[in-house]
Parts: sequence; C-alpha cells; structure tokens
Amino acid sequence: MFGGALVKNLLPDAASRAELYLSNVNRRRVAPAPEDVARLEHLAQPLPDEAADPREVLALLDEYGSPATVASSGGRYFGFVTGGTLPASLAANWLAAAWDQNCAFRVMSPAASRLEEIASDWLRDIFGLPAQSGCGFVTGATTANFAGLTAARHALLARAGWNVEEQGLFGAPEIKVIVGAEVHISLLKALSLVGFGKARVTPVPADDQGRMRADHLPAFDDRTVICIQAGNVNSGAFDPAAEICARAHEKGAWVHVDGAFGLWAAAAPARRHLAAGVAEADSLATDCHKWLNVPYDCGLTFVRDASHLHNAMTFNAAYLQTTGGREPSHFTPESSRRARGVEVWAALRSLGRKGLAEMIERNCRQAACFAEGLRSAGFRILNDVVLNQVLVSFGTDIQTERVIDEVQKDGTCWCGGTQWNGQTAMRISVSSWATTDDDVHQSLEAMVRIAKRVVN
Ligand SMILES: *Cc1c(COP(=O)(O)O)cnc(C)c1O
Repeated sequence: MFGGALVKNLLPDAASRAELYLSNVNRRRVAPAPEDVARLEHLAQPLPDEAADPREVLALLDEYGSPATVASSGGRYFGFVTGGTLPASLAANWLAAAWDQNCAFRVMSPAASRLEEIASDWLRDIFGLPAQSGCGFVTGATTANFAGLTAARHALLARAGWNVEEQGLFGAPEIKVIVGAEVHISLLKALSLVGFGKARVTPVPADDQGRMRADHLPAFDDRTVICIQAGNVNSGAFDPAAEICARAHEKGAWVHVDGAFGLWAAAAPARRHLAAGVAEADSLATDCHKWLNVPYDCGLTFVRDASHLHNAMTFNAAYLQTTGGREPSHFTPESSRRARGVEVWAALRSLGRKGLAEMIERNCRQAACFAEGLRSAGFRILNDVVLNQVLVSFGTDIQTERVIDEVQKDGTCWCGGTQWNGQTAMRISVSSWATTDDDVHQSLEAMVRIAKRVVN
C-alpha cells in the first residue's frame, strides 16, 4: 500500500522527534519512572486488522516508548559497560537504514562490504594487529568470542587431522581450554556454543585485581586454547597478555582475548601499555557498541591467521554469487545482516585518531575523578582505577546495596552493583562520549549525598 512511495514528512518527523529526545536526554531522570514503564502497555493493544498511517505509528512509539527508555545515550549512565552514540554514527545509522543493505555477500552491497574493509583496516592499525588478520562484524562481544573460538576449534583440530566442520566434535581429539578465574560469563557461553563446554575448563587463579596469574598456568600443549581478557568487567584490569602469548606460542597453543571494552585502551597512548601483548593473540573479540559509541549492535572478531576464521565460517551454494573479493559472510556466523561497518567507519572518520584517543582518555580520567571524589568523601575504592571502571563500597554489603538502589531511584545517574573479592560494590563504568566533567560532578554529588544519608 505504501509501496515504494515516501510518506510525506515521515522521516523529518522521525528526525525531529529524535532530536527532541536527545536534546532532553540529559535533563530527565536516567532510569525511567515506573509510571512511564507502565504506560508501555498502551502499545500492547491487540494487533489491528487495518493498516495505520506510519506517522501515527511513529507518534505512538514516541509518546509511549521514549519516556520508558533508559537514558543511556545521555551523559550520566554508568551501568554495565554502555557507550552512547556519536553524532556521526547515529546519522550514518539512519542513512544506512534507508540503504537497507544486506552485508552477506559483496554482490548484495559493494558499499557495505567495502566500508567494512576500510573500517577494519583502520582498527587493525589502531589495535596494532597484523594487516592481513581476518575480521568479522558480528552482533557483540559474545558472538565475537564465539567466532574467535570457532576459528580456534578449526585451527587446532585441523592440525590434528580432524575436520570439525564436517565431522563435528563427537570422537574428535580433545581440546583443553584454560580460562582465568575471572572469566566473563559471555566467554563461558561462547565455550558452550562452540561445543567445548563451560565446565570442561581449567581455571587459573586471579590476583586481587582479577588478572590471570601467569605463574599458575597449568601444563598445556598444542591442543589448548587459553582464554584471557583485556579489561576485567569489574576492575578494568588486564591479564598479562605478553607473557601468556609468548609461553602459549612456544608450545603451539591458541590464545583468545576477550577485549570487549579493554582493547580500546590501545587507541589511547597513555593507556596503551595496559594492552601490551594482546596483539600477539590468535583471536580477539571486541565491541564497538561499547567504547566506540556506535549504535547497538556491533562487535568485532579478529583472527590473526584469517584462513582459520574463513575456513570455520565459509559456505557456498550455486545461487550465492561470489566475486573473488572478500565475502563478509565468510567471516561471521551470520549470513544476512545489517551493514555495521557503515557506523564504525563513520565513528572513526568523525573522531580521527586523536579524537578516539581523547575520548578513551577522557573517560579514564573521569573514572579517576569518580574514585577520587568518593574516596575523599570517606568511601572505599576497591580496585586500582587503571581504566574506566570504578568499584566502590559504601560500608557494609547491605549499606552498599541500599546506596545502589537509591542511586538508581534518584535518577541523577545510573550505576549497577557487583561482587568484588567477596564484597558488594557499586560499579561505575565510564564509557560514553557524551559524559562531560559536569555530568561526573553532578553524579558524584548525588552518590555522596545518597550514601551519607544511607550510612548515617
Ligand atoms: C560486555 C562484555 C562482553 C559481552 O559483550 P556483548 O556485546 O554484550 O555480547 C564480553 N566480555 C566483556 C569483558 C564485556 O565487558
């Protein structure tokens, strides 16, 4: 019914609603009010039989959807590890949605395929990865971990004379998996998806910052995958990648790095030392929707020897026309997928190398500012604040839990909780381009005000 025809004023209407949303996002409470969440039920009417004007559909979404959102695109959301959206990448996302390109095969979208290649070349350079390493654009670090481990599975079993893509894992030579005690749950999920099993791992003890203790690595051989992390999800600490990679490679083991947010330390000269050695790994996973501040969803997997990723992911059929160039879907678990490279390209092109470094460094500096402010107000910082993560205790576990709850309800900012070395902590993760120093001060003021009331 609307076949091909543009609905008059629909896109400008969407743009002006989005602009209004973003211009107010820093003035509203960060978590939506319970009443606003309840109003979402207005959208739960039975599916109408009749078509509706797209402008009315959009108006409904804006009226009931917008107020119920979490203001994570504003400057005072410090939950999980959540970036916002850089202006250039938001605008690129809209244009790319209008393009509606399928980035499975080159012939379907030369533009999407090429932008992916350019963006990943820039990132290989930023991360210090070999120019010829393979890259797949996936939904996030969970899938990126899955893809990297799938490449590892291919490589180690092919070397043992086993074709895992054809034969599966039943009867295959055993692969040993080593993880740190502080391994991220998404990596365990990826291990389960890839058939290695979550419980078949050998854990290595961690130190007080959550770093894998390389001096406690068990014996391993060339049928071993060692999973390390660049950026502990709580403390921000890095496993000693240089030492582990060197020892692993002496024996022919595979090293996989979960660098969902920590890999971006490599983009900032003053933090780069933290990620020393990660570029020596065989496979790496990272997110762009976190610290690069592109819209959801976007993760990347890098594999040092591109052929292992390619051999694990490639597929063909007579009707799937290939070109001789790089076929995007030969590097990802997905086939049809959106053109994530467009936003990554736009984010990087708009920031430039210096802008990216400055954004990462600014967030780290802001994290240090949180730590300093909370410490000087008399509260305990539980981690060495080396990156963008701060863990704070406000007293007993129960007091800390109450502070977290009240901070969330207060709405000035949003932080979650965690357990760290046996204690309850509030987690502050500074990952947004939109966070200003003023946002940090406002948030600190709210945290300290609430905490003093709870503790006294
Ligand atoms: C966020 C995160 C993940 C999972 O990433 P998704 O994008 O949610 O799939 C994995 N590892 C670490 C360290 C993370 O911070």
